[in-house]
Amino acid sequence: MNFETVIGLEVHIELATKTKIFCGCKNEFGGEPNTHCCPVCIGMPGVLPVLNEKVVEFAAKAGLALDCKIANFSKMDRKGYYYPDLPKAYQISQFDLPICIGGHVDYKDGDIEKRVNITRIHMEEDAGKLLHEAGTGTAVDYNRCGVPLIEIVTEPDLRSADEAKAFLETLKSIIQYTGVSDCKMQEGSLRCDVNVSVREVGSTVLGTRTEMKNLNSFSAVHGAIEAESARQIALITDGGKVTQETRRFDDIKGKSYAMRGKEEAHDYRYFPDPDLVPITITDEQIALYRDSLPELPTAKKQRFIDELGLPEYDADLLTGERAIADFFEASIAAYNEPKKTSNFIMTDLLRLLKENGVEPDDNPVQPIQLAQTLKLIDDGKINVTVGKTVFEDVFKTGDDPSSIVEAKGLTQINDTVELSGMIKQIIADNPKPVADFKGGNKKALTFFVGQVMKATKGKANPKVVNEIVQEELKNA
Ligand SMILES: [Zn+2]
Repeated sequence: MNFETVIGLEVHIELATKTKIFCGCKNEFGGEPNTHCCPVCIGMPGVLPVLNEKVVEFAAKAGLALDCKIANFSKMDRKGYYYPDLPKAYQISQFDLPICIGGHVDYKDGDIEKRVNITRIHMEEDAGKLLHEAGTGTAVDYNRCGVPLIEIVTEPDLRSADEAKAFLETLKSIIQYTGVSDCKMQEGSLRCDVNVSVREVGSTVLGTRTEMKNLNSFSAVHGAIEAESARQIALITDGGKVTQETRRFDDIKGKSYAMRGKEEAHDYRYFPDPDLVPITITDEQIALYRDSLPELPTAKKQRFIDELGLPEYDADLLTGERAIADFFEASIAAYNEPKKTSNFIMTDLLRLLKENGVEPDDNPVQPIQLAQTLKLIDDGKINVTVGKTVFEDVFKTGDDPSSIVEAKGLTQINDTVELSGMIKQIIADNPKPVADFKGGNKKALTFFVGQVMKATKGKANPKVVNEIVQEELKNA
């Protein structure tokens, strides 16, 4: 029997509002445990939650960026369950009337355009965190209680771990552009529950699914899907049956373990939160939210191709992360050479970020500094090779390119008289390569250019050197 894997995702994204969803506590990652808390977010009896308007705005903006329909009327519900990190013993979420319905994300799996449909997006509060400490037991940190979340639920449209990863990368990029979340997975700002089932190829009936919760890296999502799909296929092939359950995926071992039977909606005893009024959003408000969205990656990419004449490859790489796209646009605003700027970003900046483990958001180079480096090259003050080392110094020291060139004496040697003298001497000292050149070996030319660059510590103008070497070899 041939199997196919069917995957649906529930993506939890923490919203970057200044304060929490129902109180005025700081919404900030980290901090001393239990210092960003108040009676509301730790669920003391008798307190009253007040919905943060920014959460509604951010959720609606995320929905608009994903082509969802924004509900004019929605409400908050209580989802009852007990867990030590949830002091109220219920989570305020949205049940039957979520803020966003429908929508889709178009993404590329390799070269193929694919689409994932979105079922809904709802708003909810995050729970606290359990800190398991060896020897001393488990402690609870309530700082995360009441951090605003949106949960994006997809249709079961994905068919492989690779598709899931490609989709998540696109989703993350779009949400980052909207500015409603930083989507930092290492800080838990984007976490993913994965639903996996398998079925015979050609079947239209969904198999029994299992769920793996709280995966916080794309590689964990990828690994969980591959391992779980293989486990289910082996089970069915052996004549067994998949049990609907929640499983825990161990990223290091690459295996999942049964945790508990899957809950159904009725297990949670949802009911409308009597402390919170329903949410109404007018069409005018929705239009305002839509107008305030920035240019999104797909539109930006197309504009880079159409208006700046960049190849699709460049446009793709530059728009993948908003921080890089912003850096590129600020650089060309200072020095309008899109292709040269793009080349420098792709080959030098992205490499330096990667080698030094720096996130694009924390890029130490100012856009004007890249513009200045390119201008120094174009003005003939330094050559391209020196430009690359200067840029590396800018990255490491933060100094301006012109001061680096001056301090290190890297100014390009364009003086033909000075270079001619040097080249004549090198030719006189190397009769063998001269003979080779005259015998038709063009590689000998490279040898002489290399010798001049070495003698000038790489500072000679390579174009001028090339011309003089050719000229002098003819005369030799
Ligand atoms: Zn609070």
